[in-house]
Amino acid sequence: METECAEVIVSIMRAEVDRVFHYAVPDELKPVLTPGHRVAVPFGGRNVEGCVVGFSKPSVDPSRIKAITAVLDDYPLLTPVMLELARWMKTKYYTTLAACLRCVAPSWTGSAKRAKTLFVCINGGAGFAEELSHVNEKGGPQALVMKLLSERGATALAPLLKELGISASPVHTLVKKGLVILEERSSAGVSRSDIAYEPGRSFSLTDEQAEAIETLLNTQSEKPGRMWLLHGVTGSGKTEIYMRLIEKALEAGKQAVMLVPEISLTPQAVDAFKQRFGAVVSVTHSRLTPAERVAEWQAAREGRVSVMIGPRSAVFTPFNNLGTIIIDEEHEKTYVSETSPKYAVIDVAEKLSKLTGAAVVLGSATPSVETFYRAKCEEIGLITLKKRVNNRFPDVETADLRTELAAGNRSIFSRRLLDAMDENLKRGHQTILFMNRRGHSTFVSCRTCGFVLECGHCSVNYTYHIQSQRMLCHYCGAAERPPSLCPVCESVHIRYFGVGTQKIEEEVRRLFPGCSVLRMDMDTTARKDGHESIIRRFATGQAQILVGTQMIAKGLNFPNVSLVGIVDADTALNTGDFRSAETAFQLITQVSGRAGRADVPGRVIIQTYNPEHYSVSFAKEGDYNSFYEHEIRVRKTLGYPPFGDIFMALMSCPDEKRLINTQNELARLMKAYNRKGFFEILGPAPAMVSKINNMYRWKILIKSSAVGEDILLHFAFYCVDKLKNRCDLDGVNLNLTLNPRILV
Ligand code: ADP
Ligand code: ZN
Ligand code: ZN
Repeated sequence: METECAEVIVSIMRAEVDRVFHYAVPDELKPVLTPGHRVAVPFGGRNVEGCVVGFSKPSVDPSRIKAITAVLDDYPLLTPVMLELARWMKTKYYTTLAACLRCVAPSWTGSAKRAKTLFVCINGGAGFAEELSHVNEKGGPQALVMKLLSERGATALAPLLKELGISASPVHTLVKKGLVILEERSSAGVSRSDIAYEPGRSFSLTDEQAEAIETLLNTQSEKPGRMWLLHGVTGSGKTEIYMRLIEKALEAGKQAVMLVPEISLTPQAVDAFKQRFGAVVSVTHSRLTPAERVAEWQAAREGRVSVMIGPRSAVFTPFNNLGTIIIDEEHEKTYVSETSPKYAVIDVAEKLSKLTGAAVVLGSATPSVETFYRAKCEEIGLITLKKRVNNRFPDVETADLRTELAAGNRSIFSRRLLDAMDENLKRGHQTILFMNRRGHSTFVSCRTCGFVLECGHCSVNYTYHIQSQRMLCHYCGAAERPPSLCPVCESVHIRYFGVGTQKIEEEVRRLFPGCSVLRMDMDTTARKDGHESIIRRFATGQAQILVGTQMIAKGLNFPNVSLVGIVDADTALNTGDFRSAETAFQLITQVSGRAGRADVPGRVIIQTYNPEHYSVSFAKEGDYNSFYEHEIRVRKTLGYPPFGDIFMALMSCPDEKRLINTQNELARLMKAYNRKGFFEILGPAPAMVSKINNMYRWKILIKSSAVGEDILLHFAFYCVDKLKNRCDLDGVNLNLTLNPRILV
């Protein structure tokens, strides 16, 4: 009788090899090998890593079957639940099983030999800014590396080189210049810090909190695996509810996962959890090295930790008896993966809860319209917290910039905001000024002929940065000295327009000499620990005013902040995607929530040219429900989610003509296969940013309201497959996204 063979998925991310391969199991491995085990197998003349997904009798000639070389771990890497989840993701997100296995298990490395990981990170120090501006001025690979590092922080070297398509030599030159360092990382976890945090005291719960917890716990015993929306205004004490739920899970011998947007993973928050639960808490984040990630992951797998806090990937923590999944700030866009598999973590959590019976709690002061719609339809439960724990709401006002202009005030600050800042300084309170654009001036233009200076590689305006005195392209990192003469009409009247965070910082210093100002944006946080050090300095009162981008909008809790100024609420309204009203409402509400967190009453001033816009006016009133009612009608009228779906096929290519031909062919196929007329096919058309880094960008949108997202995805991928059969797509980048967060 022939024996069963192991079904192995090899860790190669290509569709052609995304199937089960059979391998014989050597006798000595038979007693230990189970599905989920990582193994080394011979494949195409070399040894590769694979994952056992099952056992069966192969249909091919047994003599042609090769044997497993080795089992790589003492226990199966993947739990049966995670294997099942990976299978589900493959179908749901139209990708390979290998890609899904890699997503659910971090140590699935793609090679049986595990190399040491070299990281490159920004160095900083004296002369940094000047050296950086030289590099940016010259452009090229070195500038690209710096741009990428400033966005992502420390990054593994090998994938970085691959992504940018460059050799290691520019990086070594940057090391010589002192701009970056190479290091092998080892210490795990977010470092503890000396920031003052609320000690691990147990509060007596507010009535709303107590009721919420009771509801959650009762249904969990009656109806396991239910999903809940916890809609609680900022400062309503949602964190305490999360903690109690986690406590209950632990008492029942279960484990908990708490997802937080990366940006709010502050040492403040982490310390509070460590205080409460001690060593069973583990924290993961995107700056961990692969080795650190594996260590965290193994600790969970082996039962040494029971609470995992982290960004979206923490949902894949392989606990054996998961009791609770919490997704804080559920509306955040970082909860949707931008790389394949493009999963939405809420969907993954929902599937996990079906597989394990774990309760899922989505928390937010400003739930996404889609989630709130599900709660309204009673697809998921809804719990509302209307009161702030301290029972104080900030006093929110708008300052109409049209009136200011009419009164001859052309400065950045309205009279109202200026007076409030002045008063606040005198009282010794702190102020936060929010502006969602970095840099100094957002465009550089000729006053005589109106010419606006653009990046030569992208269809994007340059932003002027004052420290380096350079115009920077925020897309490709190109930098240039501003010209002294207009390149078109040779006029000398080159001027700087539009306000960024640097300009605000400059204005504050000018208006309030002697006042200490901190700025928090991508430019000041690029260096290691920049983020944390600014938070620490502000929290310990070393500055009176903090100017920042959306980095300061969330999660931070500064008791002494009693004034928040939203310098330009309108930037958020003009992002050009169907969620812009929602995003603006969320951002204004979140930023306002930074005011008056403790005993000091808070005041918020929203500067805008559109005080009547429903995002602004309902955010001002703190009225989520009215905002939602308005927005859901808009979505219904336009057939946008949750009433319909949009699929975007974005392509980029250095050859514009070839790009357009390819897009035309795809649109033709889509129209031809759209026999039942379920779909509306829009385009091809140039993307909003029609060129980045010398790559032209075009898009096709498919709208559907008649059928659900699964059928839409099936249709779209079917057409793309047909396109692949007909056209050579070599050199054409394809980016396929369902309900994109931004309509690029
Ligand atoms: P949210 O996440 O809803 O914005 P937080 O969880 O940050 O609100 O709570 C706001 C503040 O109230 C925190 O400083 C927290 O320590 C405090 N807090 C929460 N619950 C209570 C309570 N029952 N009694 C007193 N203070 C509380
Ligand atoms: Zn000119
Ligand atoms: Zn550019």
